[in-house]
Parts: sequence; C-alpha cells; structure tokens
Amino acid sequence: MSTEASAAPRLAVLGSVNMDLVAYVDEVPDGGETVTGTGFRQIPGGKGANQAVAAARAGADVAFLGAVGDDAFGTELRANLARSGIDATGLRTVPGVSGIAHIVVDGRGGNRIIVVPGANGGAGVAEGDEALVSGTAALLLQLELPMAAVVAGARLGRSLGVPVYLTPAPARELPEELLENVDVLVPNQHEAAAITGHTEPRAALAALLERVPEVLLTLGEDGSLYGRQGEEPVHVPARRVEAVDTTAAGDTFCGSFAVARAEGRTPRAAMEFAAAAAAISVGRHGASSSMASRDEVEALLR
Ligand code: ATP
Repeated sequence: MSTEASAAPRLAVLGSVNMDLVAYVDEVPDGGETVTGTGFRQIPGGKGANQAVAAARAGADVAFLGAVGDDAFGTELRANLARSGIDATGLRTVPGVSGIAHIVVDGRGGNRIIVVPGANGGAGVAEGDEALVSGTAALLLQLELPMAAVVAGARLGRSLGVPVYLTPAPARELPEELLENVDVLVPNQHEAAAITGHTEPRAALAALLERVPEVLLTLGEDGSLYGRQGEEPVHVPARRVEAVDTTAAGDTFCGSFAVARAEGRTPRAAMEFAAAAAAISVGRHGASSSMASRDEVEALLR
C-alpha cells in the first residue's frame, strides 16, 4: 500500500444516505397553517453521504458503507455517490424504500428537517466492510443509523487502528460502549449542550473531553472550537458569508476537517480549511450539491 505524502488520503464513511426533498419558503408554517413555497428541489443527502461527498470534494478517496432501498431513489442515490468518485461497493440495496429527508429552508437560510430512515434502518457493518475500512486515515460516523450499527462501526474502526470520528447528530443518548471507541467527537453547539448540559462552548468542550480524546465543536456563525485532552482549546472564526442555505454545513465541515487532518495539517489549519469549505457551502443552495471543490477551498484560503 502506498504511503507517499502526496497520495490522496483514504477515508471511510459508515452512515445514512437519503433523498432530500427540499421546499423553500419565506416563513415556515405554524401547526395547522399552509403556506405557498417559493421553490422545490430533490437533492441527494443524508449525513453519511454528505460527509462522504465533502471528503471526496476535499480530495480524499472515500469508501461509503450504508444501505439504500430497491426504489428509484436508491438507484439515483447510488449513482450520485459514484458521480462524486466514491467507492460504493459497501452500499447495500435492501428491499423497501430508501431514506428520505423532508427539509424546509426559510427566507433567512435556516432549516427544519424530518428524516424518515427507510433502508438506513437496515444498514450496519457487513461482511467485506473490514477490507473497506482497513488502512484508511479515518472512519466517519453519525447517528442516522441504528445505534447498534454505529457501535459496531466504531468497534471496527478501533480494532483496525483507524481514527473514529463521530458526529452525534441527530442528538441522542450516547452509550459508553460507543464513546469508548470514538477518537474525535464533532458536535454542534446544540448537540454538545444535549450531551453535557452546558450551553457555554468551553464548558461543554471540557465536559466532552472527559469522555473522548478530541472534540471539534462547531458553533455556526461563531466558528469552531477544537480541544484535545490536556491542551489549550483552539478557536477558529467562521468566514463571513451571506448564508443562503446552512443545510449540511456541519457535514461539510467534518468531512473537510478529517481530510485535512489525514493530510497532516495541524488542528488549526484543518479548521481553517474546513471553515472555508463550509462557508462556500452555506453561500449556495443544496446539501451535497452545494459543497466546494478542493480548488475552490484553496483559492479562498490564498
Ligand atoms: P447543519 O446541521 O446545518 O449541517 P451544524 O449545526 O452541524 O450544521 P454549524 O455549527 O452550524 O453546524 O456549522 C458548521 C460550520 O460551518 C461552522 O463552524 C462554520 O465554519 C460554518 N458555518 C455555519 N454557518 C455559517 C454562516 N452563517 N456563515 C459562515 N460559516 C458558517
């Protein structure tokens, strides 16, 4: 296996893949209210697939592990991963519907999301996955698969000596059997508060660092905060950009950060790289379709 510094890093992602059905509105409706939307788009998404596409756009060779249904969305979702150059041999087709996400984007770029898991509910670590994860520079996990699948993924990564990243979203209880195999936890402020009870970022970071070795806390427009056990935290501000659609900002940030770290960048340099990638993404409509290419990110960093 090549170990040349210039070779693209290999990453693996075990996670969800959904079709995002996105409605754009000026103001989101209250319960019982109907409003007229200003537009509609169907965009491949899912936190797992979004992180995989972000990592691929950032320059990594990515293997994706997950499941789609045997419906039209499944065919399209598989093709979309292939178009991004992602190895989808670990993406299984299972009977039934693919995962979908109903997303509402308001006139200020904020979003509200309902995820219907479909085939993601049947995803997990399967035979052959070990070969896809072995030797990679990172395994990225999120919480849109059944907890047993996420735990099995973390165990697999740890057993292979692959650094395990976990984005704890959507927020839920994190069992110790999961956290004990996580190297880098990547929550947003809301998830960090749900886990620790602390809304103040540095307090949340300190509490999380009692449970995992590294934490990358994303703070939306306030940037990101990174900490490693026993070291001073590092803060990197967000880039100023007019937010059009913040869907997948966190996934773009996580995928890009993992690639930059795999390339040997310091945490601060990796955060700056990820902030540039996320800023480009929030300035455009869409989830994975709005992610920046490596060339665009590097142009912004120059
Ligand atoms: P999402 O759930 O929408 O994927 P998130 O809540 O997981 O996002 P955030 O903390 O909102 O993640 O954002 C991740 C990163 O994206 C931030 O650290 C920041 O660098 C960038 N970002 C997010 N919102 C903005 C914004 N309005 N302007 C510039 N950068 C932003």
